[in-house]
Amino acid sequence: MNGSDFFKERGKMQKFIQYTPTEILFGKNTQAEVGKEVKKWGGSRVFIVYGGGSVKKSGLLAQVEEALEKEGLAYEEFGGVKPNPRMAYAQEGVEKAIEFGADFLLAVGGGSSIDTAKAIAHGVANPDWSLEEIWGGEIILTRSTPVGCVLTIAAAGSETSDSAVLTNEETRKKGGISTSLNRPKFAIMNPVLTYTLPKYQIACGIVDIMMHTLERYFIPNTRNQITDEIAEGVLRVVIENGKKGLENPTDYDAMSEIMWAGSLSHNGLTGLGRAKDFSVHKLGHALGAKYDKAHGATLSAVWGSWAEYVYKNDEERFAHYAKKVWGVEEEDVAKAAKEGIRRTVEYFREIHMPTNLKELEIGEVSEEDLRELSMAATLNDTVKLSKIKELTAEDVYQIFRKAAE
Ligand code: NAP
Ligand code: FE
Repeated sequence: MNGSDFFKERGKMQKFIQYTPTEILFGKNTQAEVGKEVKKWGGSRVFIVYGGGSVKKSGLLAQVEEALEKEGLAYEEFGGVKPNPRMAYAQEGVEKAIEFGADFLLAVGGGSSIDTAKAIAHGVANPDWSLEEIWGGEIILTRSTPVGCVLTIAAAGSETSDSAVLTNEETRKKGGISTSLNRPKFAIMNPVLTYTLPKYQIACGIVDIMMHTLERYFIPNTRNQITDEIAEGVLRVVIENGKKGLENPTDYDAMSEIMWAGSLSHNGLTGLGRAKDFSVHKLGHALGAKYDKAHGATLSAVWGSWAEYVYKNDEERFAHYAKKVWGVEEEDVAKAAKEGIRRTVEYFREIHMPTNLKELEIGEVSEEDLRELSMAATLNDTVKLSKIKELTAEDVYQIFRKAAE
């Protein structure tokens, strides 16, 4: 079947709402604009959220503070956010931000700092509710505090996304909430700020960007050409420039492509007009909560096993992916589908990302651990994962087991 027939038979643009209000300031030295941006979006007392210190070391934090001072804005620092950010720490941030009288949250860093800033923003605006209650879905958020960000890593896409992910250390659950209130007011994106990234983090980011696109791509019966072409384009660009960026992390062009792709992959655009899946993320979150491994690495470690488990239910889709993203010319649909999966896993290997649980380096994984992970991913077997093939806790266990081989 040629490309246009593929869409004729399967094409169906579902109803959608797209709301991507984040103002983007992209390019060199855009961080100098941060004071003006905060002011423009109504901030006067700025609570700055950052991670383990990379932004101090690089001098970025000092630049940001200087820009805020220039506009006469008061600020307070809240550093120490860890990757896989903790809910309890964000709750501490809420108390401190309220004490400071914060009216604006500014994240300087990656997804972990941005998600913590989003959480603090919700907590400040809803002081009668704890983050645990908010993340538990006990209230539907109707208000928040404005958030802006200065991005230092292309990965999570949180700088424009509608979600925020926290780990509850007590319950060992990692989960997100999705709401339009999670969309930042602005995102400052200067690719130069990513030059200091360790290669491992660049690679984790590449995987996450690919996953945000793929989790919206393998959806049955809701093909639409414009969304598919955007998704395939994002994937091809990230795959190509990912390698270039890893070879030379100060390649401005490559890092620019990756950075912008990170936002596009997760602002909704790559899945418009169809449902989204995010089942591989559920598996990854279970691994992240239990073993505290980098998000991207938890995804590449299981994607191949997930794909092998589900692809037979929609070989045509996997074959189409192989052709459009990897240039596979194989006519036989079943063979092409398998080849697309093989190339993807091979790419993860080439960029030194784990492709199974052993390579994720989490030590011996027992049968009991695998069961626990599958129960965590399916919320104790109460939700079915995956759209191409419905996955129960037993199916997810089989996928984890395959990944553990
Ligand atoms: P991150 O966890 O924010 O940062 C990862 C590591 O990279 C940290 O050790 C950080 O160090 C370092 N780093 C960041 N920028 C750097 C730079 N320019 N130079 C040197 N080191 C740098 O990374 P992330 O992948 O963006 O975020 C991951 C989190 O986001 C996970 O919890 C994931 O589940 C979540 N996520 C959220 C969404 C969403 O839409 N909200 C989507 C997908 C994933 P420092 O701490 O020292 O800065
Ligand atoms: Fe992600």
